[in-house]
Amino acid sequence: MSSFDYGVFIGRFQPLHSGHEAVIRSALEQVSTLIVLIGSARTARDPRNPFTHAERVEMIEHVFKHEVATGRLVLRPVSDHLYSDPAWCAQVQRCVDETILDLQNGGGIGLHGLRDVSIALTGYGKDRSSYYLKLFPEWDNIQLDSQYGTFSSTDIRRQFFQRIPVVPNTVVPDEVAVWLDRFKMSETFRGLLEEAEYLEAYPTEWGRGPFVTADAVVIQSGHILLVERGRLPGKGLLAIPGGFLDPKETVRNAAVRELREETRIRDEKGEIPPAMLASFIDDRKTRVFDHPERSLRARIITHAHLFRLPDRRQLFEVTGSDDARAANWYRLGDLRPELFFEDHWSIINLMVDL
Ligand code: NAD
Repeated sequence: MSSFDYGVFIGRFQPLHSGHEAVIRSALEQVSTLIVLIGSARTARDPRNPFTHAERVEMIEHVFKHEVATGRLVLRPVSDHLYSDPAWCAQVQRCVDETILDLQNGGGIGLHGLRDVSIALTGYGKDRSSYYLKLFPEWDNIQLDSQYGTFSSTDIRRQFFQRIPVVPNTVVPDEVAVWLDRFKMSETFRGLLEEAEYLEAYPTEWGRGPFVTADAVVIQSGHILLVERGRLPGKGLLAIPGGFLDPKETVRNAAVRELREETRIRDEKGEIPPAMLASFIDDRKTRVFDHPERSLRARIITHAHLFRLPDRRQLFEVTGSDDARAANWYRLGDLRPELFFEDHWSIINLMVDL
């Protein structure tokens, strides 16, 4: 007889290791159904989040074949809201409620809600990054005996993303070791390794910061102006035009300069002069984005400026230049989080109120 109807376990599983496996097995002894929420879903790959949501599902399904097949283990994605824990909590709450209602009613509408269902959260307060375990006082807690080893996914990634990759067989389940062995032969692995090496060298070459940058969130007639990054890190990903401050300029002027340099933005009369571009800035919306983990390069604090260009049928012309491989207008409705570099998806969401 299980102590709880449902358990909830939240993690990134980058990759799934034996500590996660032990927690899941122990939780399964205490709950009828365990809902595993796979965090940081729908983001672009980077050396900290190298595996997609679908790949992490695959790893977990390989290890817990029986539990997944019998419906005792249910996997769901949750995205990050880097600048709003309440928004992230709301997403987790909604995801758990919907999953339970779905399972209870076979997809039908829940008549009695979740009043009579017991739910418990599991996980280790391993370090400061596990503070989120305190964000759900409405749920019980599943007590776990002890932490399974002192290793973490970070250590595993450090050993794995090397020229001669090491798959630490002793701390990942066999099925995950096989999965990683296959992954290390892929083109994707090579791209991530290149990125990891670049990031490793970054502090020696450029320092650890804090650095100040300025970004330009430019909208016109339901479209946003984005660049495709031409260099590491995040080569090929979409980004807001922007960059590092020159020693003698204001943050606001830096946003205008970077916008002009990276997009060559112009109308029928030619490139738009800095003063005119600056006049489109909605100064009430200028906002600092300073999440300590927003960049894997260094501590980089950015100031996003919202440029509201006049709505018209013909969007201003743009051409990618400088650090940008391309510059293009994108329909706001077409944007997807996994296309974006660093926290640029979050910035756009908050600046444009998507
Ligand atoms: P993780 O994969 O590192 O860990 C998952 C769980 O396993 C944690 O409870 C951890 O303590 C436990 N664990 C780790 N190593 C262990 C070991 N050796 N033995 C036993 N247990 C071990 O994932 P995480 O980073 O804790 O995942 C949290 C997710 O929630 C992330 O995706 C994060 O981005 C997300 N999150 C988002 C927000 C937001 O967007 N505002 C806020 C909080 C959390």
